[in-house]
Formats: sequence, structure tokens, C-alpha cells
Amino acid sequence: MDAADIILFEKEFDHDHEGAYYTIPFHVDPNAESIRIKYDYQRFGFDQDFGDHSEATLEPEINIIDLGLIAPDGEQIGASGSNKTEIYVSEAMATPGYTPCIIQPGEWEILVGAYKIHPDGVKVFYEVTVAYKERRLLKGDLHTHTFASDGIHSVEELAWKAKRHDLDFIAITDHNQMISRVALPQVEGITLIPGIEWTHYQGHANFLGVDKPFDSCFATNTLEETQNIFKAAHERGALITVNHPYEGGCEFKYDLQSLPFDCLEIWNGPMRESNLKAVGLWQALLSSGKKIPACAGSDYHRDTPFIFLGGPTTCVFADSNGVSDILAALKAGHAYFIFAPDGPELEMKINEDIILGDSVKWSEHDWFEFELTNLLAGDKIRVISGHDSQVVWDAPTNGSFKMTYTMEKPGFARVEVLRAFLPGLPLLPALISNPIYFDPE
Ligand SMILES: [Zn+2]
Ligand SMILES: [Zn+2]
Repeated sequence: MDAADIILFEKEFDHDHEGAYYTIPFHVDPNAESIRIKYDYQRFGFDQDFGDHSEATLEPEINIIDLGLIAPDGEQIGASGSNKTEIYVSEAMATPGYTPCIIQPGEWEILVGAYKIHPDGVKVFYEVTVAYKERRLLKGDLHTHTFASDGIHSVEELAWKAKRHDLDFIAITDHNQMISRVALPQVEGITLIPGIEWTHYQGHANFLGVDKPFDSCFATNTLEETQNIFKAAHERGALITVNHPYEGGCEFKYDLQSLPFDCLEIWNGPMRESNLKAVGLWQALLSSGKKIPACAGSDYHRDTPFIFLGGPTTCVFADSNGVSDILAALKAGHAYFIFAPDGPELEMKINEDIILGDSVKWSEHDWFEFELTNLLAGDKIRVISGHDSQVVWDAPTNGSFKMTYTMEKPGFARVEVLRAFLPGLPLLPALISNPIYFDPE
């Protein structure tokens, strides 16, 4: 991260301070992502009399300063005694002994425990680094199962697998089983999103990001009961995705208008007929003027020749790697989807600040730019705007492609890369983006 405040403190403690607790306040502006605290002091003495062999080894520690961190609301975020001289806290990750949390703006406090102070006193040097959020591309998988339902891996195994696949996040979505955030292990570099796949004879939906999206039981027998579950999940802040609407045997049979949801899963596991129909449904909804973000997930249970973690991969432009920022970005449609973690990459924008998922007035902006990288020779690049679809480029060689596309009328525009994955088979999507919307007056 570039944007960071570094705050330095030098504190002096006298022997009289020994045995008491103190705090050092520091200010955090809005939009902070993480806090890192390092501290340093003379812990071990050098001045023992080595003539007497017992003295030097019995009292090596002349000062012991303990550390803790307190949030603006007074909550203890962690306490590490004198065990760690560096700690880190963000929503996605924290040093063991500290709780991962959203970094609220306000007055934070370093907790200082003056456990032992030398008769001459001690100077303690603190370095506090507050890093601020910045939009970045993260890759992940929003639909996975563990052995808690019908998968074969533990959450931890999935997280390590995700790391090996170069993913940044995965959602754990076992059938009708909630997992709370505190039950999720911490694996450095992987954000685990708590979730549940509400799995019902009338359809499947993921509720992501909250520990308990609904009370009582998943089972419902009427539309009204189902509506109550979806409404509860929404009110509690869950991101709701309607899953694999055309998958044989687990189609989504409810009318989409009858339930609140945030995203439509247009790509579930390997690209196939049911997914192409879901893309068609999404396209029809977009063409009717609805702004519904798409989402994707592998529905991973175990490795098979065509099913793997990150197949497809959701690529999201999020302000941090915290669960709340990833889900907010998905809800805003700041995402595109690729067949595998190492698939093509896309940047699609108007100037620097308007990206996929955003809306502009067509009278003010009737164009957008996009750049694709990691293309293969033979890929076809298609822009779908409103009812029209236009192949704008056939990649003659491996590489990248960049263009400015002009919208002839209001509507939306999204990008697809089509690829021949196997000789003789029809072209299939290697990438599908969310649209930029060009609103009429
Ligand atoms: Zn399902
Ligand atoms: Zn599933």
C-alpha cells in the first residue's frame, strides 16, 4: 500500500511507573485498512558483574514492557504481553492474540504495561503504521464446499489449496450449514468469507459475509417463509447470490422478482449448457433495464478432470482484502470472471474512477476504454452492448488488446473473451465482465 501514516512515539518510564498500565492515544482517519505497531526498548541488561557468575544469568531482563491495542469504542483488540514486538491488525488478518477487525476511524490506544522497569528508567520507541484503503484486483472463488457438507476437504485445506492456485479469497458455502467468522482459520494471504449455501428443493442461494443470516431452520414450505429467510439475510447484511439457476435437478424455481438478492451466479463450475442459459437470463435482465451484478464460483467439492478451485475465478476490484470490502465490490458489480486463476485479465474504465459495475449518463460519457492481457492467439473479443453483440477483435497472436469503444445509444456494455479450449469444440467464454451502464437522461 502506498497510502500510510507512520506515527512515532518515544516514551520514558521511571522505576515508579513499574506495575501499572498506561495508554498512548493515536488518531486514525476514515478509510483505514490496517494498523501495524512495532516497539523497541532495552530489555536485557549489559552491565552485570560477570565476576560473580550467578548474578549475570539470574537477572538478564532489566525491563519488561507489555503491549495491547484498544479500539476507539474501548474494546480490547488484543494483548500480547511482552511476547511480540510487532503486531498487525486488519479486517482480513491479525497477529495471533489480536482480533481481525474493521479499522474504525477515531482515537485508538496502545496499551502499555510497565511490568518491570530498571531503577534508571527505560525509553520505549513505538512505530505505528496506519495503512489506508486502495482499490486493487483480487482473485477468488465464491462457492466452495468442505467435508462439513459433501466436499472432502477441511476449510484449512481449501485455504491452502486456494493459496496454491494464487487466489486471494474463498467463500465457504456448505449446504445449509453456517460457518461463523470466528470458526474460520487464519491463513496468511487468503481471506475466508463465511457463508452458507441455502439449499432447497426450490433452488440454491449463497448468503455471504455474516455469521447467522437467518434464525431457526433453512427449511421452508411456502414462498412467504422463503421470503422471510431471504429478507432476514439481507437485513443482517449478507450478500445474496442466486446460484446455478438452470442446473438440472437444482434449478432456481422461484420468480426472481419475488425474493431480494444481490448477484446472479452466471458461471458455476465448468462452462456448459446450464451456464450459457444463465448468461442468457442475465443478458435478458440487463436488456430489460435491470442492473444486476453477475457472480461466479466453482462449486468445488473435490478435484475432478474439469472441476478445480478457482474454476471459474471471480476477479474483483476491492478497496481492501477484508470481507466487507470484497462483498461491497461484488454488490457494486466491480468484478469480472475468468475460467481459471491464470486466465485473461481485464481493465475496463472511463477515466480513472469509473469502472465496471458503475453507471454514467450517456449524454456525458458515451465511451469506455478496456484493456485485456494474457490473451491467446485465436481468442475472440466481443463487446455486448444492449441487444447488440459485436466481435471487435480476433487475437492473431498471444498478448494484449486495448481499445476505446463508443456507445451509439444508452444501455450497457460488457466484454467477453471467447476461446477454443479444445479443437473442434465451439468457442466458450474465457472471460465475462460485468457491464458499465450508460443511463439515458
Ligand atoms: Zn447448489
Ligand atoms: Zn454448491
